[in-house]
Amino acid sequence: MSTHFSDKFLPFALPDIGEEEIEEVVRSLRSGWVTSGPRAKEFESDFSAWLGGGVESVAVNSATAGLHLALEAIGIGPGAQVITTTHTFTATAEIVRYLGADPVFVDISPDTLCLDPVLVEKAITARTRAIIPVHFGGRAADMDAISALARKHDLRVVEDAAHALPTTCSGRLIGALDSEVTVFSFYANKTITTGEGGMLVTRNPQIAKRTRVMRLHGINRDAFDRFVSKTPGWYYEVVAPGFKYNLTDIAASLGIHQLKKARRFQQRRAEIAARYDAELAGLPLVLPPKPAAGDTHSWHLYVIQLAEDAKVRRNEFIERMFEMGIGVSVHYIPLHHHPYWKETYGLTPSMFPVSERVYEGSVSLPIYTRMTEADIDRVIAAVKAILG
Ligand SMILES: *Cc1c(COP(=O)(O)O)cnc(C)c1O
Repeated sequence: MSTHFSDKFLPFALPDIGEEEIEEVVRSLRSGWVTSGPRAKEFESDFSAWLGGGVESVAVNSATAGLHLALEAIGIGPGAQVITTTHTFTATAEIVRYLGADPVFVDISPDTLCLDPVLVEKAITARTRAIIPVHFGGRAADMDAISALARKHDLRVVEDAAHALPTTCSGRLIGALDSEVTVFSFYANKTITTGEGGMLVTRNPQIAKRTRVMRLHGINRDAFDRFVSKTPGWYYEVVAPGFKYNLTDIAASLGIHQLKKARRFQQRRAEIAARYDAELAGLPLVLPPKPAAGDTHSWHLYVIQLAEDAKVRRNEFIERMFEMGIGVSVHYIPLHHHPYWKETYGLTPSMFPVSERVYEGSVSLPIYTRMTEADIDRVIAAVKAILG
């Protein structure tokens, strides 16, 4: 009895880790530096250079940690409001609650599946301090409009760029725009991975300094330089009750090599997206929004929306895909469906008609660099078999 190839389960996502990463991790283990040290520093400087320079990069152990540090550094606290979307992962909004402030949720635009700038402006009050756009799936939010609103109303912009490496907006890389802070994720299923990890990027030296101090217990080492720079580094001062958010050298060893491959990874994902676009075009579904002309989409996610007149509803579609041995997912169950967010802020689906309509039909198809042509064919054939 031979097992036919298509009997094997095709996972929804897989990391793409090469020998370079493995050897670097082993070198890190042998070196004696396992937590934050030379490799974390190297990853930070590589990252700033990769973005074209002129920014500071602060390595952290998750994007959630980076977003928390960003809001702390820009002074978000009780009484403040931060405008964001419910069409995201809960991390985007929970960090606002960590600081005792309140997220204010607005709907997305159907053209981008990201924050609708018109609704953002309507939601601004005297208490609004910041806006957190999410580049959903790796398609840039309308950052020109959001930045203009921030300038007009004196608000800070913190980009949740967990999906956006590499993504461009009006020809510029996300991370190199003029937002106060941008935060990337290197979680296992993101476009590049360190297992767990993230990078906070800013052009503001005060924010870089504050987040470096707060990612490691509020310890300020400048005092050491001022007072005892001739003796080994035993002296430090605690200037705030900080956090434990530093990235280890073991994780940074992965990041250094993943970053070098980021553009190649994106090209492969874009090829897969182009095949899906071409082959699924005639079916009763809405394809993911295209990037603006000339812009790069990271293609972290490929989210289709089943049309109202499709033969099957979303949950049945997912069951059928799994029966055919193909892993799919849903991004996301909007925050206005989760008990905590619903109850705390009195959210109802009718407040977010676009997010709601998109969610009803949403299915994320597998899209990752390790997929073979046969894997891609198999996904296309399965979608056609269910919907055609
Ligand atoms: C993955 C993700 C995060 C959190 O990233 P971690 O590195 O796991 O903390 C935040 N926002 C969005 C939109 C994400 O997809």
